[in-house]
Formats: sequence, structure tokens, C-alpha cells
Amino acid sequence: MERIVVREVGLRDGLQMLTSWPTTVQKQAWMHAEYDAGVREIEVCSFVPAKLMPQFADAAEIVRFARGFDGLIATSLVPNLKGAQLAAEAGVHKINFVISVSESHNLANVRRTHRESVGQLREIVAMIDGLPKEQRPEIDVGLSTAFGCSIEGRIAPEAVFVLAEEVAAADVDGITLADTVGYADPASVACLCEEMLRRFPQLPIAIHLHDTRGLALANAVSAYQTGIRIFDGSIGGLGGCPHAPGATGNVALEDLVFMFEMMGVSTGIDLPRLLAARSAVAAFVPSGMLGGQLSRAGLPKNYGRAADDRPSA
Ligand code: ZN
Repeated sequence: MERIVVREVGLRDGLQMLTSWPTTVQKQAWMHAEYDAGVREIEVCSFVPAKLMPQFADAAEIVRFARGFDGLIATSLVPNLKGAQLAAEAGVHKINFVISVSESHNLANVRRTHRESVGQLREIVAMIDGLPKEQRPEIDVGLSTAFGCSIEGRIAPEAVFVLAEEVAAADVDGITLADTVGYADPASVACLCEEMLRRFPQLPIAIHLHDTRGLALANAVSAYQTGIRIFDGSIGGLGGCPHAPGATGNVALEDLVFMFEMMGVSTGIDLPRLLAARSAVAAFVPSGMLGGQLSRAGLPKNYGRAADDRPSA
């Protein structure tokens, strides 16, 4: 049976836009519920100054808690070297550093040109390399707005490859292609993913889809067909982007898991438990923030048998 990895990003991507957010204890309950459902990689926080984003003021404490789960990979977003140092000190397993392929978006998001962001990435890698081996987190780079951006419009694949080459040369452990504001479609996803896998056969390539215009699941299938096996999502589709007005959330994790399991692709996730986790999280965020389809209709009667009845995808 084919297997994929689904990564929960809601505790970071999902909380960025909220004006009121879960308490530390609620975040812990959220992680617990998803861990119980079988989720084994969670982006748990962002190491940004608390005065800019008070929702992540408890980042170090959240990482400490996440490290208590056996086999859970705790990831954190970092905007710069300082954030990376704090993340490594807190003991994250993986650092996620983001560069927007749209340079205008990068300037709006982190006030840096591409060249400055790649320079910062090299400093982060050097910092990690200087740590004792057992304390070194992995580093993954998210190429956001890889398909398009609300400032620059459509992004040419060539711009992604140029930046990806520089990022790969900095000796990272993985690259994530992010459709931050919903510009991707199944055809553009197929083109970009195929070429990325061809150019970087040694590097894990993941995809981070938002459902801004309703194409996230179709895009996920398209990515899967090219060979992508790592997918981001957030429970209830929570998420957005502070520099992309109107941008709705990530692909709903439960919908993504449901789709792949129905296709005969194993995610390692117990869907009834994931739906229970969604109900728990609904109480932690402002009402009406969670979306997704599966939670409305519930699981179909054939769930769990459908995959056995047909050859794997
Ligand atoms: Zn996102």
C-alpha cells in the first residue's frame, strides 16, 4: 500500500490570522488529540517576537510539551536567525524557514529581498552545523507563493527553480512548495512538482496547499500523481496569510486524509479520532473559523472498506 505523510500546520499557519487564540493548555490538548489520531508531524509554533505575534509567546513551552510525545516531529516556523536560535534552544526537531518566490510578497512578509533571505538561510544552516550533533534540528525551506501571489499575480515556474537551486545549494533537508493564496490548479501543480522532483531527486519535496479557490484537493491528487508524498494541511482548514487579504485557509486535514484513504493511500491516521480532534479544536478558536466538508456529512458507511475493495492508487 502506498503511504503518505500528512503534516498538521494549523497551530502555526492557522493561528497567524486570529485575533483571539487558544491558551497554552488548549494548544496542548489540540496536539494531544491529533497525536492520538496518528498525526506524527506538527508545526507547533512560530519563533517570532511576542510583541508582533502574541499568539506564539508560549512557543518554547509548546515545543517542550510536543517533545514529550514519542515519535512526534515538532516543527517551528522561524523568520530569521534569531528565531532559529531560539527554536534550536527549545529543542524543535525541524525548523521551517520561509522564502516567498514573489519578491514583493517576501518584502511585505519579512522585509527582505531574495538575496537577503538566502543569506539569512545560509547563516541559519551554519548555526545548526555549529551545534552538537544530537541538538541539530533539520531545516526545511518553504517556498511560499510558488504558484502565484496577490501582489505579482502568476509566478513563472522558472522563478521557483532558480530560488530552489539556491536553497538546495545551502544544504537544506527538504523543500516545501506552498500555494499560499490559491493560485495553483492541477495542471500547474503537475508541471511544477514533476520538474522539482526531476531536478532534486535527493531532496524530500512537500506541498502546502490552501483552498482559497476550492482547488486544494484536486491539486493534492495532481501532486500525488507526480510522486509527491508529503502534504500539509490544517484541521478544519484553519489558516490564511496576513499579507494576502481574502486568502482563506489551508486544505482541511480531515478532508485530505479522507480523500487519500478512500483512494487506498495510507496516511496512518484514524479518521474518527481526527474528527473528534476537530470538534475539540472548534471550542478553542473563534466560532465559525473552521471549515472543511467531511465534518458536515460525517464518514460514509463504506469508509474503511472502500480501500480494501480496489487496487491501490
Ligand atoms: Zn500556508
